[in-house]
Amino acid sequence: MYEFSNFNELMVKRAVEEYLPIANLPCKCERCQADIIAFALNRLPPRYYVSLKGEVMTHFESQMAPDRARVLSEVVSAAQIISAYPSHK
Ligand SMILES: [Zn+2]
Repeated sequence: MYEFSNFNELMVKRAVEEYLPIANLPCKCERCQADIIAFALNRLPPRYYVSLKGEVMTHFESQMAPDRARVLSEVVSAAQIISAYPSHK
């Protein structure tokens, strides 16, 4: 009935969606996107919250918005590192 979600995971995925189209990267494939998300998430603290299954988060969004800048800067540096050392050929 209840499930755990990591707020920062949502933030990172959203930031990647926004950043990638305008980023100048050698590769933007699914694998690299996943690597960028994982890399950025490992650098951010977890932010778990409990919600009812299927419930859409609303109030958390404004409450935690100050983290946006940090999340975006982690995504940008993750993208640079993954581009320099992609995990595929
Ligand atoms: Zn790639």
